Amino acid sequence: AAQQPRWPDPRRAADVADLLHRAAPVVTATRTARLREELAAVARGEAFLLQGGDCAESFTENTDAHKTANLRTLVDMAGVLARRTGLPVVKIARMAGQYAKPRSRDVDAHGLPSYRGDLVNSAEPTLAARTPDPARMLRAHADAADATALIRRLGDGALPEAREVFVSHEALILDYERSSLTVDDSGPEPRLASGLGHFLWIGERTRQLDGAHVAFAALLANPVGLKIGPGTTPEEALAYVRRLDPHVEPGRLTLISRMGHTRIRDVLPPIVEKVAASGHEVVWQCDPMHANTYTAAGGFKTRKVDEIADEIAGFFEVHRRIGTHPGGIHLELTGDPVTECVGGAAGTAEADLPARYRTACDPRLNGDQARELARTVAALATDGVEPRKAAVLR
Ligand code: PEP
Ligand code: MN
Repeated sequence: AAQQPRWPDPRRAADVADLLHRAAPVVTATRTARLREELAAVARGEAFLLQGGDCAESFTENTDAHKTANLRTLVDMAGVLARRTGLPVVKIARMAGQYAKPRSRDVDAHGLPSYRGDLVNSAEPTLAARTPDPARMLRAHADAADATALIRRLGDGALPEAREVFVSHEALILDYERSSLTVDDSGPEPRLASGLGHFLWIGERTRQLDGAHVAFAALLANPVGLKIGPGTTPEEALAYVRRLDPHVEPGRLTLISRMGHTRIRDVLPPIVEKVAASGHEVVWQCDPMHANTYTAAGGFKTRKVDEIADEIAGFFEVHRRIGTHPGGIHLELTGDPVTECVGGAAGTAEADLPARYRTACDPRLNGDQARELARTVAALATDGVEPRKAAVLR
């Protein structure tokens, strides 16, 4: 298993895992089954998938106000997409468990162990704070349960559209992920249902075909995602699809391409052609964030709205050309008025980044940038697709 914390006292980690094992699940199996059906519709070209939220949730910033602002942004974007495309929009928040981060380096610029997300250690730059603490898994689980309770409360009151929102996170820390599994007998073979999120994905840094994360995802009854970066070959993509969708179930697997706006038009087409020819009906989703990150003056990690939009445009071009369904997008965003990404109608420049740069990890679109991008995506999704839309409506 790549990217796992080295708990200083493994016995304490085992004790925490035991407590988690006895905690109530964060999500219900009924709703997870419902998402499986909705993602099958996306895979068939009958719906669109919008997934978004913080890069990393954090214990201190994660107030009801913050979560509500993120959910409001997501449902507003979904409203724009649904109205303009005529397709139902499946909404998945990066929320209620998005507390762990893979890191490219074990040690940061100060020589301290890297921050790995609030589930593992603290971002504060001291050795004590960076030492992995398994008790953080309990806090993450409790906060995740609070988040799903908030979604239900909003859905019953102030934000009815939130009722339809599913939750997701990267399945990274296996001591956490394996603490809430029950046997699901409803599918073609017995599988394990995770009670920690409706949708779980495997990240770019933990997608080794012979690694523990892919093996774990293969056992799950939940619909799963897999990030595929610019180094992915068509043969590898096919191996993932066979491994993670052995029963050829539409929407069981979401392939989340994150190629970069300069690479997607070259790297994605042979992958899509190979997978489509195999008969597996995956959801094709574009993450236009993670391969378009750069460091601006002052050391701020950022992304340009124009480059994000260009990767999405490339994604639509590729799928239109091949005749496959551009199924959805996966974004890092918040409803808070942060200054973390460059561009958009307000003209946020690199010089503006320090004003409200709040992210615990990667730069997020703010509410205005995210809503604007939804309009851009709606335009791309409706550009020259009358025949397909007509077919779906018939
Ligand atoms: C993420 O989604 O925050 C992430 C780390 O993505 P990736 O695995 O694609 O780099
Ligand atoms: Mn990220």
